[in-house]
Amino acid sequence: MSEYIKFSCMRVPGEINSFAGFAELNSYRAKLLDLHVLGMDSNGIGFGNLSIRDGTTSAFYVTASGTGGKPQLTLADCAKVVGCDFKTNAVRFQGDSNPSSESLTHAAIYESDPTAGAVIHCHDSRLWTALLNQAPTTSKAAEYGTPELAYQIIALFKDSDAQNRKIVVLAGHQSGIITFGKDLAEAFAILIRERSTRI
Ligand SMILES: [Zn+2]
Repeated sequence: MSEYIKFSCMRVPGEINSFAGFAELNSYRAKLLDLHVLGMDSNGIGFGNLSIRDGTTSAFYVTASGTGGKPQLTLADCAKVVGCDFKTNAVRFQGDSNPSSESLTHAAIYESDPTAGAVIHCHDSRLWTALLNQAPTTSKAAEYGTPELAYQIIALFKDSDAQNRKIVVLAGHQSGIITFGKDLAEAFAILIRERSTRI
């Protein structure tokens, strides 16, 4: 894609000492690891990420880049995204580690659905194949971590039942699924329900 704009992130002052939902994040992440829909591939590349909104603000805590293979995360493995620019594919963050390069995908959900308090992005090839164009689906041309993908997700909230189904299939990102909800329990329950009915 000649127009691809690389993800960039800028650290701003502020430490992450603790946050509401950190224990929950680790606990649901462990469930995703068990299902092998989050983790590390045979090339040592991590996949899958989770986030939790900071209260009712537009900021959110997201798992850091390259953490997929870790059994348990520390606060140093999380970043707080405090500002986003979809056009330039850039975020500002606090914390010790760079946020996931898919952070703007999470941001697109939080911006589109004010009731969303948590987002799960996982890789599930069977569910992905089963739901492709059966659930709200972004186009094949919108690759992961691109502004185009974020814009398409925002559009799906207007043009599809993404708001009610709370699941989005990423056609341009092999196996990529997003679920969301008021908290991680709901986002995870959506994933489990879809898996049990579709595969
Ligand atoms: Zn992914």
